[in-house]
Amino acid sequence: MSRAFLPFPPTPDRDSQPWWDALAAGELRLQRCSACGALRWPARAICNRCRSFEAAWEKQDGAGTVASWVRTHQAFSPALREAVPYVVVQVRLDAQEDLLLIGGWLVEREPVSGEAVALEIVEGADGYALPCWRPVESVA
Ligand SMILES: [Zn+2]
Repeated sequence: MSRAFLPFPPTPDRDSQPWWDALAAGELRLQRCSACGALRWPARAICNRCRSFEAAWEKQDGAGTVASWVRTHQAFSPALREAVPYVVVQVRLDAQEDLLLIGGWLVEREPVSGEAVALEIVEGADGYALPCWRPVESVA
């Protein structure tokens, strides 16, 4: 895991704690509904497709394509003063077309909508970590 981003820790709740725990362990895990099989993100108690309360956490490779992105130039928190400008990317996972995740962008150039990206978990503050992506072309 490389180190960057997330200068302050998140505030996990009952549903999101397994997400943060998996990232801290260097894995991307998503809830998969035990009834209909849909992946869920963000984590929640009930499936928005079939209303089931049953789900299991499943490891994912995070491969996908860029759906959208934004470059932030203003530090909305003093903790981000050293981080700006930075890019937040929205990735459409190959594992489920309607599943969009957000995270960091690891290369200098701006993302291109639709380009293939690979996941890299990046260490942050207080033992937490964030999902980040880089273009597949830059993966050695
Ligand atoms: Zn379901």
